[in-house]
Amino acid sequence: MKSLFKSLLPLAVLAAAGAAGAQNFPGDKPITIVVPFSAGGPTDRVARDLAEALRKPLGGVTVVVDNSAGAGGSIGANKVAKAAPDGHTLLLHHIGMATMPTLVRNIPFKVESDFEYLGMVNDVPMTLIGRPTLQPANYKDLTTWIGQNKGKINLANAGVGSASHLCGLLFQNAIGTDMTTVPYKGTGPAMTDLIGGQVDLMCDQTTNTSGQIEGKKVKAYAVTTAKRLAPPALKDLPTLQESGLKDFQVTIWHGLYAPKGTPAPVLQKINDALKVALKDPDFIKKQEGLGAVVVSDARANPADHKKFVAAEIAKWSPVIKAAGVYAD
Ligand code: ASP
Repeated sequence: MKSLFKSLLPLAVLAAAGAAGAQNFPGDKPITIVVPFSAGGPTDRVARDLAEALRKPLGGVTVVVDNSAGAGGSIGANKVAKAAPDGHTLLLHHIGMATMPTLVRNIPFKVESDFEYLGMVNDVPMTLIGRPTLQPANYKDLTTWIGQNKGKINLANAGVGSASHLCGLLFQNAIGTDMTTVPYKGTGPAMTDLIGGQVDLMCDQTTNTSGQIEGKKVKAYAVTTAKRLAPPALKDLPTLQESGLKDFQVTIWHGLYAPKGTPAPVLQKINDALKVALKDPDFIKKQEGLGAVVVSDARANPADHKKFVAAEIAKWSPVIKAAGVYAD
């Protein structure tokens, strides 16, 4: 009995220390939001705006962004799955959390069980864009050009499993034309090459494309939503559905995650801060200007976030399988 008590004592001490740490969270230790794509891209953009909006409700602590890019977003996600569960390392990820398990068969973590779900952040439409020197002026002409250039067209993406990968694959499947995909560590660097004319086409979030469309740095052809969008840079773009691709609809979303095992009081504090951040007028304005819609409290909570991701896995898995667009 005595020895059992003795062996349990360190555990009790550790648990007490953990509880005390949770009470003082975040203290003055910075919080890192891991972005699984390159700096300067759309996920990075959302994360940097969110980091700013989270600082105040987290007591003024420093919130930094760490771009752990590569492998379509799975390197950064894996880093957070394996990080210390103390609330100081978080993950901002998009629809890839729901599509990666089907698009990529061997990811080194489990989306459903290796993370604590903190809440959704926003919904973001995508756009089909082209290099500025591309001749077609509209979607109809683009389809003619695609037909005339079969086998010669490059399509940029952020790696296997990314949102641009998913959108590009579904697009090729819908029009029945294969293109040569060019993977980057994020669509930030892919955008640089598209503007420079090294690649022909890309399907990417409006959070990355609306500024470039407005500045006429790229050609814009269509949006991937069921309805047309409101921001000035996007309002004249047709939907892919109205352009003849019946049922084509891809809207991506972002959610915030912590490593599995993060103490409940810490998760509660981060979720409370997230809800405040999502009502920050400055954050809302920046997101809306880029075509994104910030979620309401009803979706910015762990239970609904987890339910939503499970529903998205169930929704996309058959679509990806039916289209035969998954990769090893
Ligand atoms: N937009 C990228 C994607 O296709 C990710 C990024 O660079 O943020 O998933």
